[in-house]
Amino acid sequence: MAASYTSRLAESLAPDVLARFLRYVRFGTQSRRDRTSSPSTPGQLELGRALVAELEEAGLDDVSLDENGYVRGTLPGNTGNGSGEGEVIGLIAHMDTSPDAPGHGVQPIVHRAYDGGVIELPREGTVLDPAAMPELADKIGHDIVTSSGDTLLGADDKAGVAEIMAGVAYLASHPELPRPTLRVAFTPDEEIGEGATLFDVERFGARCAYTLDGSDIGELQDETFSAVEAILTVRGVDVHPGQATGKLVNALRLAAQIVAALPSDTLTPETTADREGFIHPIELTATAGKAEVRFILRDFDDDLLARHIALLEETAERVTAAQPRARLELEVRDQYHNMQRVLRAVPNVTDAAEAAIRAEGIEPIRRPIRGGTDGSRLSEMGLPTPNIFTGGHEYHSVREWASVQDMAAAAAVVVRLAEVWSRDGDG
Ligand SMILES: [Zn+2]
Repeated sequence: MAASYTSRLAESLAPDVLARFLRYVRFGTQSRRDRTSSPSTPGQLELGRALVAELEEAGLDDVSLDENGYVRGTLPGNTGNGSGEGEVIGLIAHMDTSPDAPGHGVQPIVHRAYDGGVIELPREGTVLDPAAMPELADKIGHDIVTSSGDTLLGADDKAGVAEIMAGVAYLASHPELPRPTLRVAFTPDEEIGEGATLFDVERFGARCAYTLDGSDIGELQDETFSAVEAILTVRGVDVHPGQATGKLVNALRLAAQIVAALPSDTLTPETTADREGFIHPIELTATAGKAEVRFILRDFDDDLLARHIALLEETAERVTAAQPRARLELEVRDQYHNMQRVLRAVPNVTDAAEAAIRAEGIEPIRRPIRGGTDGSRLSEMGLPTPNIFTGGHEYHSVREWASVQDMAAAAAVVVRLAEVWSRDGDG
């Protein structure tokens, strides 16, 4: 066995994982924020159709691509105890890539046996410098996949798609390995926060699921942010500046003062880490007459999140108090909640993933996600869904990369997870 593989199983899965991954990243599947239908872009349907063909070829049942762009397939279990088919476990990854970096015409490059140096990509002068990327520095001897430097790679989340495909194809061709019924879903539009929106949890019919949408090898995540979006509207009194004396109330100026009055040494994404939350202004559109500021607010703790909302409201009221003719409006919209609220009640779901990762010889890394996943909303919708690593890094950028060895390890974790659930679920 080559030294950098976690197991013989991973080594044997690697060629299939890599071949699938290199196929999938060439599909242009960026989602777009102003979506008017699901999926938001036609490239996702093209990849969906290709995945349907591959799932059928691998021998899965009930393979479909529905009208909203969700791909589904079933690998029947082989450990049923006669009273039924045993447990039904879901495996989920998203087909879209981020709209935040160029994502069309991806031309992947495999850099075999990484030597620990700077990787120079052929386009746009893009470099991957291990001095700035400690995770890359750890991958000496690995085969590293990158883009050509002018696009993202799409490991987020086509690494997850390839790992699930390779894992279930392996299980389908090894019926001697015990497995529960595995339900696969590939979802559209995760990157624009809509991956779970039209997910039919009831039809999926699994007791729990796992997204493969994490990053470094070993990551297992059962905690995400709780998230709201807040839109603050300030209405002033717009008067021609020539006649404005004592009359004009400038909404733009008030909005700028509100943003300036919010904490900037704490409670911002750039000054917080680990379990700390934040209030993050992301967009300002303003004239003298009307200003609108969009914020995202995040915390792991729902009570603290409510406090951040209250602080935003108080700050806006305090700043505008001197201008009684100004009008304030604050609209707060729920985005997703910390999945731990749901997962705490079913600890065996995360425990099974932990056991599968350990069975692959990897020490699990339990770090909360400073963001959300499809699993945050799926958990809320009744499908408990923690998140497992994929081996991809530097997501949403032209420096995105993935380790073939770590992708193979994730595919091997899929195979081990089936084994863990056939053991737990058959009793
Ligand atoms: Zn992702």
